Amino acid sequence: MKLFTTTALAVFAGLAVADDVLYSRRLQKRGIDSAGNYNISFFHVNDVHAHLDEFSSSGTDCTRPERGCFGGYARIKATIDEQRAKHDDSLWLNVGDEFQGTLFYTYYGGEKIAETLNQLGFDAMTLGNHEFDGGDDRLGDFIANLTDIPIISANIHSTHPKLNKTIKPYHIFPDKGIAVIGVTTETTPGISKPSELTTFSDSVEAVQNAIDEIKATTNITRIAAITHIGYDKDQELAAAVSGLQLIMGGHSHTLLGDMEGAEGKYPTIVQNKDGDEVFIVTAYRWGEYVGYIDVTYDVNGKILAYHGAPYHMTNTTKVDEKLQAQIDEWRKPFEEFAAEVLGTTNVVLDQTTCQQKECLLGDFMADAMYDYRKNASANVAFAIINAGGVRATIDEGDITRGEVLTSFPFGNAIVEIKLGGEALWNVLEGIVSKVNVENGRPVTSFLQVSKGIKIEYNPNNANGTKLVAVTIGDSPLDKAAEYEFVTLDFLATGGDNFFTPTKDFAILDTQDEVLTQYIEAQTPVDIALDGRIAIVNGTATPPTNGTTPPSTSAVSPPASTSTGGYTVVPRSAGFSSDATPVVARQVGAFAAVGVALVAALVMLWAQL
Ligand SMILES: [Zn+2]
Repeated sequence: MKLFTTTALAVFAGLAVADDVLYSRRLQKRGIDSAGNYNISFFHVNDVHAHLDEFSSSGTDCTRPERGCFGGYARIKATIDEQRAKHDDSLWLNVGDEFQGTLFYTYYGGEKIAETLNQLGFDAMTLGNHEFDGGDDRLGDFIANLTDIPIISANIHSTHPKLNKTIKPYHIFPDKGIAVIGVTTETTPGISKPSELTTFSDSVEAVQNAIDEIKATTNITRIAAITHIGYDKDQELAAAVSGLQLIMGGHSHTLLGDMEGAEGKYPTIVQNKDGDEVFIVTAYRWGEYVGYIDVTYDVNGKILAYHGAPYHMTNTTKVDEKLQAQIDEWRKPFEEFAAEVLGTTNVVLDQTTCQQKECLLGDFMADAMYDYRKNASANVAFAIINAGGVRATIDEGDITRGEVLTSFPFGNAIVEIKLGGEALWNVLEGIVSKVNVENGRPVTSFLQVSKGIKIEYNPNNANGTKLVAVTIGDSPLDKAAEYEFVTLDFLATGGDNFFTPTKDFAILDTQDEVLTQYIEAQTPVDIALDGRIAIVNGTATPPTNGTTPPSTSAVSPPASTSTGGYTVVPRSAGFSSDATPVVARQVGAFAAVGVALVAALVMLWAQL
C-alpha cells in the first residue's frame, strides 16, 4: 500500500512535471504569461465596399499606378497570412459594409465578395447597413455562401427565414476564452432596404444585454465588440456600457493613427462609467488599411497593455497572386463596358467634401438632373440630392462609364415632387440642422443642389434657426408658394429623413443614365463652385411675401415616352419604393455588353 502510494505519488509527480511543461508550453503558445495575463492580436477591416481589387486614391479603378494605388483583397490576404503566422493568438474580424461601391457588387451582387471573404478566413463578421441594400433575401443568400464565418449583430432582430437563424448576437471563441459581440447602425432602415421582418434595436442596450448574458451563462471574461455604428457612436457606446474594453468600429470611414489626415488616435481611449479605459479602433475605408492591435488581458478580462497600428495597403505591399488572378478573371465581364469613355473633364469632380459643403461632383450631378427635367417640365425649379449618394471623385481626364457607376452606383431614379414654400423651408432647415423639423429625428446626410436654388445658412445658430435665406430663381423663397423640383426616389420615400415620405411621384430615368447623357452633352466639363450652398452670418429675417415662382400647376406623370433612348415609365398603382425602377430600363438602349450589368443593377437600391 505504502509502496503503491509512493509509486503512485512518484508517477503523479512525474506526470505533474510533464503536465507543467505541457501546460506552460500551451500557455506560451496561447500567449499567457506567468502572471496569467493573456496576449492576443486583433486584425480588423471595415467598409471595404466591394473594393476587391486595388483602387486609386479616389476609390475608382487603379488605372494609373504611378499616382498610387491602394487596398485590394489580394494585398490584405498576403498581409494577414504573413502577420497572423507571427502571432500566437489572433482574431481576424470584418466590421461590415462589404457591399456596394464597385462593379464587383453591381455586377455580381454578394457572390464574389463571399468567395473572397471565405478565402480571407475571417473569424467573424458583423453586418453593415449596405449589406441590406439588396434586401433581406439577397443578404440571406450571401450569408449562406459564407463558410465558417459567424455573422454577429446583437441589435438585429429578424423573423426573415434566411436571417433569423444566421445572425446571432455574439460569438464565443472557446479556445481563446473570448466573446466578440457585433452591432449594426440603428439607422439602417432609413438608409438601406431591410424588410419589415428585420428590425434594429438600440445598440447600447443590445451590447450591454449581450455582455450580461455572456457573463451570466459562461465563464468568459474577455469581451470585445465589432460595431458598424460610426466613430462618434463608438465613443458613446464605450462610455455607456460596462464590461467591454475593446471596440473595433466601422461605418464612418474614420482614419485613425499617426498618419496625415487622421481624425484621432489609434486606439482612441474613452473612460467608461466603471473607470475602465475602453480602446476604440477602426480602419478607414475600402481596405486601404488593415487594423492591428495587440492587447494583454489580465485574469479578470481587463486590458493591461496594448500596442499596434494599422497596416497601409499600398503599391509596395505584397500581393497574394492566386487571389489576384481570380479577381482579374472576375473583372473581365464588365471591364470593357466600364472602360467606355463618355467624355472628359478639365477639372477634378470632387466628392470628398460633399458631406460638409457644396462640392463639384454634387453640383454637377444635381445640374444634370435639373437640366434633364427643366425642358420637359417647365415648372421644375431646381434639384436636390443627398451627399451620401455621391460616392467617389471623378478625376480629371477621361470620364468612363465605370467611373459614373462607381460614383453613383445605386440605380436611384429621378423623380419630381412638389412642396409648399413653408414645407420646403423646413426640409432645408432640417438638413442644415441635421434634425428633421417635422419628425424630430436625425437627418443622415448633407445635401447638394443644382442651379436655380441658393441656400445660405449659419452653422453657429441653434438647431431650427440655422437656415438664413433661400433664393429660388431670382426671388426669395415664398412660404405661401408651391415649388416643383427634381430629387431621387430614395429621398422622396423617406431616405436620409429629408422629406416626409411620399409615393406620389413618377419614376423617371436613373441617376447614372442622366449623368451619362449630361457628360456627353457637356464634354469637356469645365465647372467651378459657385456658392449655391453658402455659410453666412446672421439669422433669417421674418418671412415676407416674396415673389411667387413662375407657376404652381400640378405635375402630371408623363405617359410612357422615350427620351434620348431611355424609357420614361409612368407611375402606376403599387409601384412602391421597394420596386426596382431599373427593371423598367430600356435595356436595349445600352450596348450589348451592358445588358448583363443592367440586369445586375436590378439588385441595387439603397444607400448611405
Ligand atoms: Zn455603413
